[in-house]
Amino acid sequence: MRMEPWVVRSELDRASEGRLDPAVVAGLWRHPSARVIGVDDHSNLSSDPGGQRLRWFLPGGEYEPEHHYLIGTVAGEPWFVAAATPQGPSASLRQLGGVLDETQADIATTAVALVNWHRVAPFCGQCGTRTQVREGGYMRWCPGCDRQRFPRTDPAVIVAILDEAGRLLLGHHTGWESTRVSILAGFVEAGESLEAAVRREIREESGLQLSSVRYVGSQPWPFPRSLMLGFVARAVGAEIRVDGAEIEWAHFYTPHDLTRLVDAGDLTLPMRSSIASRIIASWRAGTLDA
Ligand SMILES: [Zn+2]
Repeated sequence: MRMEPWVVRSELDRASEGRLDPAVVAGLWRHPSARVIGVDDHSNLSSDPGGQRLRWFLPGGEYEPEHHYLIGTVAGEPWFVAAATPQGPSASLRQLGGVLDETQADIATTAVALVNWHRVAPFCGQCGTRTQVREGGYMRWCPGCDRQRFPRTDPAVIVAILDEAGRLLLGHHTGWESTRVSILAGFVEAGESLEAAVRREIREESGLQLSSVRYVGSQPWPFPRSLMLGFVARAVGAEIRVDGAEIEWAHFYTPHDLTRLVDAGDLTLPMRSSIASRIIASWRAGTLDA
């Protein structure tokens, strides 16, 4: 069986045409249904006190392109984000991602990604000139060298490794709380393909060789700017040699053993908002095959 298709159910329209026109973006700011959410320096979003819902505000004052970024529209209602310390309660994307619906999670993830990018991108990396926000916040333009600057994304691979019996490899990172485990992950290096990164990371962290590698889906992870690319792979043999530096230990588990250990509190799985959680859940449901 194959994993269920990785369908994105978000209704967010990123207004990719309208945002090219500053007058359109300014008009959306004045729209009676326009909403703004705040993201602070630690990527926390304005939320309800329980961290279950985004808390938005009506836009106040004039539209300022350098500070107000258009996320997009949902059913014609514009959503903006501003870098601001929320007045009142706030919650992290890690927390909110597990409870928001897909549209709200898309809005929240994009809000954090945009604010994180603008925070570190005020100057041109080529000529050092201060750049200007364009396209509602999805681009910065350098007046010094006439270059367009777009948000950077750092690709990382995350891999569910199955042995010949279909058991799943879970590893424990040094520095994690003692019971926490997850599937293995690592960043893609300069000039490296995703497939090569999967094989290199897994060889480094577990000593395992892979016979097959298949892409399953992705998740933006703006901490500060990663894109997690999920794979499922089949290991050749089951002899694990962890690196000891990054991964302290790793074992193959059957679904039955994993359930027993999690129920007993001996193992802790990744938080619900993560792609790791989704991939592990698919394997436990019997719908993930290499
Ligand atoms: Zn420049």
